[in-house]
Amino acid sequence: MSDTLAKPKTYLGVPVHRPKVAFFELSSCEGCQLQLLNNEATLLDFLSLMEVVRFREGMTGGTDDYEIAFVEGSVTRQDEVERLKKIRETAKVLVAFGSCACFGGVNQLKNRFSMDQVRKEVYGDHPIDTDVARPLESVVPVDLRIYGCPVKKEEVEKIVTRLALGSEVFYPRYPVCMECKANGNICLFELGEPCLGPITRAGCDSWCPSNRAGCWGCRGPADDMNITQMVSIMEKYGFSRETIVDRLECFGGFSAHIETFRDAVDIREKVQKT
Ligand code: SF4
Ligand code: SF4
Ligand code: SF4
Repeated sequence: MSDTLAKPKTYLGVPVHRPKVAFFELSSCEGCQLQLLNNEATLLDFLSLMEVVRFREGMTGGTDDYEIAFVEGSVTRQDEVERLKKIRETAKVLVAFGSCACFGGVNQLKNRFSMDQVRKEVYGDHPIDTDVARPLESVVPVDLRIYGCPVKKEEVEKIVTRLALGSEVFYPRYPVCMECKANGNICLFELGEPCLGPITRAGCDSWCPSNRAGCWGCRGPADDMNITQMVSIMEKYGFSRETIVDRLECFGGFSAHIETFRDAVDIREKVQKT
């Protein structure tokens, strides 16, 4: 080993423990893991922060000697339940990695139908084991969440750096609109496009609105979001209840709030009629 490699890693002069890290996927498109390999400019620095011992997209083989497990995907089968429990037993820190792992993600859209219907329509006569899509925390305790569909590489780098330094991890509490305004975008509502930016947790640097696409809420609700205000914005710009419900349902992050949203719309409609 060269002297350079043998030297302990430091960050801002502080010795950094390189945690052993493993990546796993349950039911997912593996797009969140792919994000990690995408940002070539910072990939080597990122990898120097940790010792990757298992990462199917980036290496062959691997061991089960790890401290941090990043688990992507939702739980949709019994074998995934068993696998996730084993990962939880091994990992000191279990990270729900991406919207599928945090909320069920796009996979949970199938929960609107009976599973018999899903199996028949999707798999026909092939006997495929699939059940309702659930977030990781419906099976095991989760220590950290990294939101997004897919996750934002820069945010993962920040979080991993803080984990390696043993520092507390912070999430933005404010909505996407704050980042969107800071980025100098024209509000998409003014351009005739609906957007969940006012109620969705920031951290993606207003990824979609900055590219002229309305937010679909992949990062889930911002702290203290104001559903009633969202309803009045939608009404002001002439969007229907269905348009917003479609977006609220898309990733599963707002599932606990959809009835509140419907109630808020009903109340406003009653008030307008009187
Ligand atoms: S959160 Fe999105 S990108 Fe990540 S695994 Fe799920 S569907 Fe794929
Ligand atoms: S485009 Fe969306 S995120 Fe940007 S200011 Fe308008 S509502 Fe907020
Ligand atoms: S703008 Fe909305 S949908 Fe797009 S990445 Fe950010 S949180 Fe997700």
